[in-house]
Amino acid sequence: MKRIKILIAIGVFTMAGKAQSLPTGYEIATWYGFSKAAVSYTFDDNTPKQFTVALPLFEQFGYRTTLYPVTNWVTDWEQLKKASAMGHEIGCHSQSHPNLGSIDTAAQERELSGSKATIESQIGSGKCTTIAYPYCITGQMDITQRHFVAGRICSGQINAPTHAEDYLISSISLGDQGLNTPEALNQKCDEAATMNGWCVFLLHGIDDDGGYSPITSPTLTSHLTRIREQGHFWVAPFGQVFQYLKQRQNAIITETSSNKQRIELTLTDGLDNTLFNQPLTITKAIPNNWKKASVTQNGQNVTYKTHVNNGQRYVVFDAVPDAGGIVIKK
Ligand SMILES: [Zn+2]
Repeated sequence: MKRIKILIAIGVFTMAGKAQSLPTGYEIATWYGFSKAAVSYTFDDNTPKQFTVALPLFEQFGYRTTLYPVTNWVTDWEQLKKASAMGHEIGCHSQSHPNLGSIDTAAQERELSGSKATIESQIGSGKCTTIAYPYCITGQMDITQRHFVAGRICSGQINAPTHAEDYLISSISLGDQGLNTPEALNQKCDEAATMNGWCVFLLHGIDDDGGYSPITSPTLTSHLTRIREQGHFWVAPFGQVFQYLKQRQNAIITETSSNKQRIELTLTDGLDNTLFNQPLTITKAIPNNWKKASVTQNGQNVTYKTHVNNGQRYVVFDAVPDAGGIVIKK
């Protein structure tokens, strides 16, 4: 009986996940670089102008996106290979775009593992770790969970900074069947900033390429111009933002030593490092006379800056969980 109770307790603990644990004086940014909100642009169904119009446009702004191609519909893998090399994420949207809720277990297994394997072998670098469910219908979750770390649905919500449903991450549809003006897109991003949330946009057709619910490139240009001007959004691929969210929620900082010259700490997250390896942005209160503080992780210099707020000096730096000890020096 006692044994059963212990097992139940472990089960509950595992399901809840580990909570973030930080010593006094530390804070992990809700989103990379202390951005007010995260924004991801995801493109489904590999329509022609996603490659010839949309990606070059996003790249002009320095933004990277996520592509969810249907693998049986791909006619030119070089386009996807090039997009991946440019830093865009290539995710899974199945082999043939079935309704996953209406096919049997074997067919779903084939659609998911088959498209994932095809993408990984064709692209040759990087993993296919996230899925956008065809028609936004989820199917059997245990199969999805075996192959992917996160899944995108289409419920039109902005995701909270504490979002915990890895396989039910909401997106907002754009184009003539959804939000279709720069103002409407901007407003969603403003809402995301107010709630420190994560706004995921879902795009299909671009201009006149024949894709579902097209959005025009001038609308996107106007919207992206404002996003960049505001400067408080973290625009990044779906999988990258998901990693950050998950790592932040599981991060544990342990201060291993601290004196007048030097602070040593470890940053861990208990997650699989082959799937979760994004830098987290961390701030730490430091003595006011540490004007030229420097930060290293595993002996290498890392990006950092210092600032004073209400008379207290802080150092802000990026570090990857489980990637070696961190040292802050006077
Ligand atoms: Zn689709």
